[in-house]
Amino acid sequence: MSKKKILTVPDVMLRKVSAPVITVDKEIKKLMDDMLETMYAAPGIGLAAVQVGILKRVIVIDLSKEDEKKTPLFIVNPEIIFKSNDLVSYEEGCLSIPNQFAEVKRPSSCKISFLDYNGKKKEMHAEGLLATCIQHEIDHLNGILFIDHLSKLKKDLILKKTKKQKKEIDRVVV
Ligand code: ZN
Repeated sequence: MSKKKILTVPDVMLRKVSAPVITVDKEIKKLMDDMLETMYAAPGIGLAAVQVGILKRVIVIDLSKEDEKKTPLFIVNPEIIFKSNDLVSYEEGCLSIPNQFAEVKRPSSCKISFLDYNGKKKEMHAEGLLATCIQHEIDHLNGILFIDHLSKLKKDLILKKTKKQKKEIDRVVV
């Protein structure tokens, strides 16, 4: 496994639509392993392939707490087949928009179909944090970021802060 660099806004890659995976082969498995390692190191609870510069519909998620046994989920070519009408809001962040958080309202539960690590077709019903996380990651596959769900004012403010933060980081790199 090897850790990959996580792209951050305003990288144009993050706005591209990822392509479906044809077969879950060795290369895709290696990608999933690398993504998992990258996500654990960040640390984060979800990562889409586009965030490491690969435009494929691949997601890894792990909601286990630090002191718990790891429970990684590998999701390839996800399709949302059901979304609840009732919404729930969580304070979301994103590894591609470092240190910025905002409340986002999304359907509180959803059902998806996908291919697992072995390329087997599966369905999963998700609620609460997992449902939010899945929807956040599927958004990534379509070039959508959580800030797109906010008002323009809030979105611009976050982008401005991220830009400023980047400059400050650059300043100490000599
Ligand atoms: Zn994200």
